[in-house]
Amino acid sequence: MALAFDEYGRPFIIIREQDKKSRLRGLDAQKANITAGKAVTRILRTSLGPKGMDKMLQSPDGDVTITNDGATILEQMDVDNQIAKLMVELSRSQDYEIGDGTTGVVVLAGALLEQAEKLLERGIHPVRIAEGYEMASRIAVEHLEHIAQKFEYSVSNIEPLVQTCMTTLSSKIVSRCKRTIAEIAVKAVLAVADLERKDVNLDLIKVEGKVGGKLEDTELIYGILVDKDMSHPQMPKRIEDAKIAILTCPFEPPKPKTKHKVDIDTVEKFQTLRHQEHKYFNDMVQKCKDVGATLVICQWGFDDEANHLLMHHNLPAVRWVGGVELELIAIATGGRIVPRFQELTPEKLGKAGIVREKSFGTTKDRMLYIEQCANSRAVTIFIRGGNKMMIEETKRSLHDALCVARNLIRNNFIVFGGGSAEISCSIAVESGADGYPGVEQYVIRSFAEALDSIPMALAENSGLQPIETLSAVKSQHIKEKTPFCGIDCNDVGTNNMQEQFVFETLIGKRQQILLATQVVKMILKIDDVISPSDY
Ligand code: ADP
Ligand code: MG
Repeated sequence: MALAFDEYGRPFIIIREQDKKSRLRGLDAQKANITAGKAVTRILRTSLGPKGMDKMLQSPDGDVTITNDGATILEQMDVDNQIAKLMVELSRSQDYEIGDGTTGVVVLAGALLEQAEKLLERGIHPVRIAEGYEMASRIAVEHLEHIAQKFEYSVSNIEPLVQTCMTTLSSKIVSRCKRTIAEIAVKAVLAVADLERKDVNLDLIKVEGKVGGKLEDTELIYGILVDKDMSHPQMPKRIEDAKIAILTCPFEPPKPKTKHKVDIDTVEKFQTLRHQEHKYFNDMVQKCKDVGATLVICQWGFDDEANHLLMHHNLPAVRWVGGVELELIAIATGGRIVPRFQELTPEKLGKAGIVREKSFGTTKDRMLYIEQCANSRAVTIFIRGGNKMMIEETKRSLHDALCVARNLIRNNFIVFGGGSAEISCSIAVESGADGYPGVEQYVIRSFAEALDSIPMALAENSGLQPIETLSAVKSQHIKEKTPFCGIDCNDVGTNNMQEQFVFETLIGKRQQILLATQVVKMILKIDDVISPSDY
């Protein structure tokens, strides 16, 4: 915008680039937005369920990601439509809150938009649609809580937890060894969980991966695994009853700053300096030895001289350990991170039963295992796999499984999967619609229809006839009043999800319905889109 004056001194305002803006108003805006939302959904729809397809995405710098995880697909797709970005955000918030169900939430939102489009065409006002959806989602969530089942587990009986994690993993690329991974996830979560407070801190679970070996070799380590090796090849590879000094100060003499100048013009001066430096190192090493440390883990590097001295003094050391790892090591070993040598005391040392170095492959790739720690509440999951893509995808799938296990510890109610919960809610919403005399009932019925899209997508992706299968299951629900009949994706022979052990968490499902409704309401209320146009 600019202010200008004409020849008579009268001011006028020039609005620059006004004609370059494109603008959509009213019904056109809503329709355009709905189309954009639906386009995103169409991409994810085929990835839903145990027979869902995977996507291969290439980043601008050539990195390839193969994944089945909704949140990851959208994250990497680099969309630039604003409404499409809302869908990405939707998937991300599901990922953030729950961890699983990121594809399902987008599919549901897309179906709600599709239904909204039909309602708009019938002349129903967008605000009425938004209100109707809100009412319907309330009915659905209430019904969901009604059909949810409490599910019992204990530390000695982890099977139910494992089964639920397996449902999550069954739709991933790693489903081949879902049992192993599900067990690892559950054990890891139980190791760090505070069952009394029903609290799980997933930060205490470190996930490390290394190319090589088989997926089946993935293991849970009750301790910390660091992708580093001893700083000197001749240092011991195995230390028992280690007392660990965890340092964030460098093993170096202080360096002169650029402001200062050191003039060395005689041999004597050089020797004094060298002597000083030597003494400095010796003091530092001695300090560590004095407090009783048998291993030094240092955030900084140290040069060859220090390295040699450490070796010479029989003090094994590990250098360049990252800050996060340092923190985990401190938690696991019950030690304190020491920022200055002067502050080193015996109580600040961490304790570990065994510290060992293990090498992999032929490339002399070595990793450091810190096990039998004083405090076992920090664990590491070590993933092996054929290539980097596989390991990355396993990490993502494992994240889903860990989140599911955590959610179950927080709230141990489950609903049945395979679309059965959605069908049951759909029936409840449908019959709830009869109680509303106004236009709302159409909207509420549309919501019920949108819920059906999840079982439809599951059936479609498994190569079944979607409409036939859905109507068969639905009539079964109504006739037998069984909330656990779903889509038999794996062709097991029964559509009873209780028998197939396909469970999902109640809070995950509830969040899906609530989030999807919220986003769709938001999109429907936009009636003016002003954007810079492309030229
Ligand atoms: P999301 O990212 O939403 O978790 P998934 O690809 O993991 O998407 O698919 C989850 C859906 O697949 C859920 O509705 C779940 O109930 C269903 N599902 C998972 N395993 C099975 C199974 N063995 N049989 C039928 N449905 C299943
Ligand atoms: Mg899933």
